[in-house]
Amino acid sequence: MNEIILVKVGEIALKGLNRKNFEDLLIKNIKRKIHKLGRFEVVCSQSTIRITPLDEFIDMDETAEKISKVFGIAAFSRACVTEKDIEKIKNTAAEYLEPIFSENISFKVESKRSDKKFPYGSPEISRIVGGFLADTFPNVRVDVHNPDVVVTVEVRDFAAYIHANVEEGAGGLPVSCGGKAAILISGGIDSPVAAYMMAKRGIELAAVHFASPPYTSGRAEEKVRDLLEIVSDYAGRMNMYTVPFTKIQETIQRECPEELFTVIMRRMMMKISQRIAEKVGCQALITGESLGQVASQTIGALACTDEATDLPVFRPLIGMDKKDIIAVSRKINTFETSCLPYEDCCTVFTPRHPRTKPRLDLVKKAESSIDWEDMIAEAVENVKITRIGEED
Ligand code: ATP
Ligand code: MG
Repeated sequence: MNEIILVKVGEIALKGLNRKNFEDLLIKNIKRKIHKLGRFEVVCSQSTIRITPLDEFIDMDETAEKISKVFGIAAFSRACVTEKDIEKIKNTAAEYLEPIFSENISFKVESKRSDKKFPYGSPEISRIVGGFLADTFPNVRVDVHNPDVVVTVEVRDFAAYIHANVEEGAGGLPVSCGGKAAILISGGIDSPVAAYMMAKRGIELAAVHFASPPYTSGRAEEKVRDLLEIVSDYAGRMNMYTVPFTKIQETIQRECPEELFTVIMRRMMMKISQRIAEKVGCQALITGESLGQVASQTIGALACTDEATDLPVFRPLIGMDKKDIIAVSRKINTFETSCLPYEDCCTVFTPRHPRTKPRLDLVKKAESSIDWEDMIAEAVENVKITRIGEED
C-alpha cells in the first residue's frame, strides 16, 4: 500500500499574493527536515502539500514525527493512495483502516471530490465506502454525530486518498519567512521558550550565549548547546555564538556600583549582541524576559536595557506567567535540560540588592568612567561558533 502525508498549510493561506512564496518556503523547509530519511516528492496542489516517499525503506512514523515539528503546518494526516475507482477505494479503505477498525469504534465517512469528472458525488462516495466498511467490520458502528474516527476520502486530480486521523501541526509560519534575529540564550527555562516562540512566527535564529569561565563551567555551555539542539528540531539549523564575557563582568563588578551591576551587564549584552547580529544578518534581538519576574525585568530596567541597542528587542514572554512558560518548555522538551544545575554568568555575579528602578542617567554616569569599546570589540572578536542542528 502506498502511504503518503497530506499537509494543510496554516496561516500562510491568508497571505494573498505572497502565498506562493510562503508555500515554496514551506516545501523547502519540509524537504530539508526529512531528506535524511530517504527520497521524497513534495508538491503543492489545491492548497494541500503532498509528501510522497520514493524509497521502499522510508519509515513513515519517523517522517510524521518530523513533519509535526515544521512551522507553517496547521494539520496533517497520513493517507493511503489509490486509483480513482470506487471498487479500489472501497477495498483499499478496508485494508488500510484494518488496524483501527478491528477495535469496537464508531465512525463516519466524509468525502471531498475536487475531480468533478469522478462519476460519484461526495455523499454517494461516503455512503458506499461507509456501507462497505460497516459490512466488512461487524464490530464497528456508524455514528454521524459523535464518531470516534472520521474517515476522509478525497478524490483529487491524480488519485484518491483515504485517511482517518488528522493530527494537529506545529502551527505558526515557515521559518525564515519573517527574517532573522539573534536570541540571547542562557541555560534557563525562559530563553529557549522565547527562541521557540519567535521561530514559530517565522524567524530564523542565531544564538548568542555569554560565558564567563572560570566562573561558569564548560558543562553550562554544553547545556545551552543541548537546549539549542532541542529548539532546532523546530527552528532549523543555526549558529551558536559563545561570547567570552569574564573580563567585562569583572570590570563591571570592580568599577560600577553593586546595585547597578545587573542592568549594566544587560546593556553590555545588548551592545555585544547587536554587533554579532549585524555581522550575521540579524534584524532584531530576542530575550526570554517576562515583566516583573526579577529586578532586571521591571519597566524601568527594561527601558535602560533597550537604550543600549538600536535594534528592535523581541520579548515574546513579556506577558506570560512562569507556569505558562514552563508548560511550553515541557511541551517542546527543554524543561528537564533547563533544570540541570549549572551556573549561568548572571547568577554568578548577582548583586544582593539590585536596583529595581534604575535611572538611565545614573546608569550612564556609572558606565562613563570606563572605556568599554576595546573590551566589547575583543569579546566580539573572540566569539566561538558552534553549529547547531546539523543532524537534519
Ligand atoms: P532564562 O530562564 O532564560 O535564563 P531568567 O528568567 O533567568 O531567563 P535573566 O537571567 O535575568 O532571566 O535573563 C533574562 C534574559 O537575558 C534571558 O531570558 C536571556 O534572553 C538573556 N540572558 C541571560 N543570561 C544570558 C547568557 N548567559 N547568555 C545570553 N543571554 C542571556
Ligand atoms: Mg537566566
